Amino acid sequence: MTVQREQLEADVLIVGAGPAGLSCALHLANRIKKHTEAGGKPGLSAENIYVLEKGREIGAHQLSGAIMNPQGLAELVPDFEKSAPLDTPVTDDAALFFTQGSSFRFPITPPPFQNKGNYVVSLNKMVKWLGGLVENTGVNLFTQFGGAQLIYERDGIGGVITEDKGVDKNGKPKDNYTPGYELRAKVTVLAEGPRGSLTKQLVEKKKLDNINPQIYSIGIKELWDVQPGHIQPGYVAHTLGWPVPTDMYGGGWIYGLSNNRLSIGLVIGLEYANPQFDPHEMFQKWKTHPFVKKILESGKLVRYGAKTIPAGGWYSMPRNYVDGGLIIGDSGSFLDSQKLKGIHMAIKSGMLAADTIFEALKTGDTSAKTLSAFPAKVEQSYIKRELWAVRNFHQSFQYGLYGGLFHAGLQFISGGRGLIDPMQVHAGHLAYKKINGRPAPERFKGDGKLTFDRLTDVYHSGTRHEEDQPCHLVVRDLNVCATKCVVEYGNPCQYFCPAAVYEMAKEKDGLKLKINAANCVHCKTCDIADPYQIIDWVVPEGGGGPNYEGM
Ligand code: SF4
Repeated sequence: MTVQREQLEADVLIVGAGPAGLSCALHLANRIKKHTEAGGKPGLSAENIYVLEKGREIGAHQLSGAIMNPQGLAELVPDFEKSAPLDTPVTDDAALFFTQGSSFRFPITPPPFQNKGNYVVSLNKMVKWLGGLVENTGVNLFTQFGGAQLIYERDGIGGVITEDKGVDKNGKPKDNYTPGYELRAKVTVLAEGPRGSLTKQLVEKKKLDNINPQIYSIGIKELWDVQPGHIQPGYVAHTLGWPVPTDMYGGGWIYGLSNNRLSIGLVIGLEYANPQFDPHEMFQKWKTHPFVKKILESGKLVRYGAKTIPAGGWYSMPRNYVDGGLIIGDSGSFLDSQKLKGIHMAIKSGMLAADTIFEALKTGDTSAKTLSAFPAKVEQSYIKRELWAVRNFHQSFQYGLYGGLFHAGLQFISGGRGLIDPMQVHAGHLAYKKINGRPAPERFKGDGKLTFDRLTDVYHSGTRHEEDQPCHLVVRDLNVCATKCVVEYGNPCQYFCPAAVYEMAKEKDGLKLKINAANCVHCKTCDIADPYQIIDWVVPEGGGGPNYEGM
């Protein structure tokens, strides 16, 4: 079927309305405004900036711990403290080591865990607020639209095609069928978050990978309302140790928000050896530690979510410019994996991209040569300084917890260099060891009060998708699941997915992969952690996915 698509043209198209995409839009609109007021060359307008957001509203898909270093926001919105939803400043930061039954507080909080001057925020609220500022400038924000395909042009990109709406699960048009738009732009900015589906295509096609591939962690989070007095607003703790085995990378967090609300979560590096390991189960187990349990006692689960985190840092940063295109934020590896902070870098990368685009639009040259000013600006900014100092950090933990701490210590005193520089890593899924006939482990059920199974948690993520649409989790060869993967790795998708999307079902003619796509919280773990790399996460119909209200 030949599809007639409506075409729209913009100067700048930004895919993703997270901190990076919105900061890019806001800063560019501000620069255009100043330029126009100063009588600069006419023709530039904020109305020619388009931003696409796949969530049902701005902020719906935003998930983070979240402690925010305000450095980026202070540059973007100098008087941000007057109106930004900051929730609470950090008042105490503890680093704890857990053994199974007890905890030990480090007498001095190691520098990466120090958070003085930072804020505990809800990223969902923060991004909603930022979205309002962007809208006020005249930028066009389109919610419920995802970028489905890139338009390739010159030696780069020339825009995107948004997803078709109103297609049934067999790919047939329904009564409400609307073909996706063909959005063309002089510059397309990919700000899709970690493992962006368009970014993945572009990085593969144009071979943009750095010396290390991107490596990821998964963060699983719950928001709780706890009893008064159980946590102080601004209390921040990071935990190492139990229940995370020493051959894995991971740790927990406890952040106190205002009104007795609590953000808790566990981060696990997606480079573990056991394919039957379940990160969600480990998070639930972590909550049973006496230290955490006591805080949560008589409290109530409010919200749940999961998201991957780009952990590779500087040496995993893809080339972030092509003809007509830039990659920013988590999609571009702008995250400090040692401090687990990316909001300030996402904002800064968005602003530097905006400065680059502004100059390019003025000269009318949006080629890769002109846009290469973006990485040059990054080099001269605090992004480079911060990421350079931790350039080998996450890679060190391929040697286990103690090996990792040893290397990280040496890197700390040598400005990031350590014993091996650059320290290389393989993509995380290559770390799996075969199961060699090991039976499937029993699934975790939870007690329904302190610990929960995945479906109960998914219910608290507000996830919703149109059921009658093509599956957005495209498995390229289902035979591999039923014949090869089941024997070699025991179908890890059943374990790593924090939303119980994948299930090997026994059918008359053997095992079959069942995909409960409606549960998907868009964390992208399956796209990253599948051992055969045959799962492609593609955008579902716009508006589908979680609703991370207050997260
Ligand atoms: Fe995450 Fe994939 Fe599961 Fe969706 S299906 S929740 S993207 S692992």
